[in-house]
Amino acid sequence: MISLYSEKEAKRMVAQYPGIPAELALRVYTSRLLGGDPSLVLHGGGNTSAKIPMPDIAGKSREILFIKGSGIDLAGIEPPGFAGVELEPLRRLAILDSLPDEEMENELQVHKISARSPDPSVEVLLHAFLPHRFIDHTHAEAILILTGQPGGEGIVNEALGAKAAFLPYCRPGLPLAKAALGVYGRNPGMEALVVAGHGIFTFGDEARTAYERMAAFAGKAEAYIRRKTRGREEGAIRRKPPVQEKDDFFYARLTQIIRGAAAVKTEEGGFRRFYTAVRATPEMIRASLLPEAAGFCSSGVLTPDHAIRTKNKWAFVVRAAEDEPSLQEGISKVVRDYREIYDRSFAAQTKIRAVAWEKRDSAPRVFLVSGAGLVTLGFTPREARVAADIAERTVRAKILSQKLGKYEPIAEEHVWDMEYWGPQQKKLEREAPPLLRGQVAVVTGAGGAIGLGIADRLLAAGAAVALGDIAESSLEKVYAFLAKKYGRDRLERERFDVTRYESVERAFARISRRLGGIDILVPNAGVAHVAKVENLDSEKFKQVIDVNLMGTFHTIKAGVPVFRRQGTGGSIVVVSSKNVFDPGASFGAYSASKAGAHQISKIAALELADLGVRVNLVNPDAVFGDKEVPSKLWEVVGPERMKSRGLDPEGLKEYYRQRNLLKVRVTAEHVGNAVVFFASGLTPTTGATLPIDGGIPAAFPR
Ligand code: ZN
Repeated sequence: MISLYSEKEAKRMVAQYPGIPAELALRVYTSRLLGGDPSLVLHGGGNTSAKIPMPDIAGKSREILFIKGSGIDLAGIEPPGFAGVELEPLRRLAILDSLPDEEMENELQVHKISARSPDPSVEVLLHAFLPHRFIDHTHAEAILILTGQPGGEGIVNEALGAKAAFLPYCRPGLPLAKAALGVYGRNPGMEALVVAGHGIFTFGDEARTAYERMAAFAGKAEAYIRRKTRGREEGAIRRKPPVQEKDDFFYARLTQIIRGAAAVKTEEGGFRRFYTAVRATPEMIRASLLPEAAGFCSSGVLTPDHAIRTKNKWAFVVRAAEDEPSLQEGISKVVRDYREIYDRSFAAQTKIRAVAWEKRDSAPRVFLVSGAGLVTLGFTPREARVAADIAERTVRAKILSQKLGKYEPIAEEHVWDMEYWGPQQKKLEREAPPLLRGQVAVVTGAGGAIGLGIADRLLAAGAAVALGDIAESSLEKVYAFLAKKYGRDRLERERFDVTRYESVERAFARISRRLGGIDILVPNAGVAHVAKVENLDSEKFKQVIDVNLMGTFHTIKAGVPVFRRQGTGGSIVVVSSKNVFDPGASFGAYSASKAGAHQISKIAALELADLGVRVNLVNPDAVFGDKEVPSKLWEVVGPERMKSRGLDPEGLKEYYRQRNLLKVRVTAEHVGNAVVFFASGLTPTTGATLPIDGGIPAAFPR
């Protein structure tokens, strides 16, 4: 690693934040430099601090420790991402022998200088106890590779020299902070402190010095590894990869089965589901076939900080390319065994410590699948990707460790300590998750007004949503609109044609590969054609049938194998029409196709109940959309209706409002709310139709 520090950039940074001390601006600058290097810092790992004198509100001078907020990413940190804490009260804690989590949290909260600032990093005490003005801390991979070797201390000395002090693994929090203070007492000139199985701290009076020491020591460790492993080959793989990186159908089946097997049963009889991320690069596929692959899974995290993301042990799946039933059986067994071992170890660890930790779920977060690469899990798509990033780098580091000599894992009890340490647990989601968290919804015809309304409500309810449409431009428009409102993390888009089964199947495979599978299906794609039976062109009729009836059928049919592999039930909500119960003249093609779709949906309700899949219908009427995304249906139907009733566009909307019992204008969001209701599974309902029409007596379901 080389220093990227630039005087010019540093000056620019100071100028950019005129209201804050220059030291803090420089602290922000070098923190971002560290955060931008994934070999040092991954997803909220690592932390930095600066001690800056700052008077209190009454003008009394005092020293403030500015330390990175817990869980905040260094790569994009801003000044408010640092928590300011009074230094003196924290330093006094060094005389204590122990400090319960709640007491520590209380000390930090009452000594923060702003009620709005984030929780300080979990390593705050070490930063407080040591006197250096700037402290940089990372979990640099090269350092972890060295400390993971047998005889790590000697190797670290040889690679980094005498200016880097060494500490065997020590529990973060008060114990590590006190141990570091002890090392400092014996080595006041130390420029860095390496903590085995954890990472490295570097020190300086200036932001630049601390950063450049990090660059120098990490660079020395990297150079040492390069020198010692030069010319050493990786182990030969046992067989050729049975699957190709590009095989969407294979990876879709794999993720569907994995997320189904890992889903956590809830007390209410439902499931807490995971999203998945796949890493099927040639490098990861190759790694999964190495003789050491199973060892990568059992040898644990590089640093215990990773345990909340990946858990300590991973699941190893052999024989990936076998037929589907054996793959399903194999994965179920792997997950069952994993859960059993996790539960047993958890019980043993809590017993030894006589503590009452609240157990997380027992499901693995990382699967290494021989011949296929990595599949990781998370309760949000982002969590799954974070686990994948960490797992990918861990595999690489373990391969390098093996080339260097031998990888010795950190003692398991240390990792359990860290996984269940209060401040670490706080980084995980604590509030009750949104209604549809963990679920993947596919909405067809998402480029239209009703599709947008449905996708919007599903996203608001916490689901991940894949938008499907055949028209690229409207799909992109809706995607851009929703991405702006909800971000891209839970949003995907896929262009496909519901009139062709293969197209739907392929789209579902691609969506599953990216998000894990499918739980909620909303067949919504529809077209209209206005003509009296006498004038109805057979070809036109067929086109409407193809989209509205065959499209609904294809969407439901392609979902069945997905639901079956996952084994966690699901929900299909078909967007039907008020016309099914109350048809209108000149609307034969539309009404007949919708009536057919209605019937096939009811048949699906009968047939899929065994799988725990509910099939329900919503019957909207007169949803016009807005100027941004108008209803395509009404673009076709509107002119004819206006002509026959002698109305302008506003008059037509008013006409439909006055027509229903409640005198309301029906919106796409209303339809979306109904979809969310059915998808929530809050009532045991299948085969039902819910009108979204303001009340039209002729269309009351019967
Ligand atoms: Zn750390």
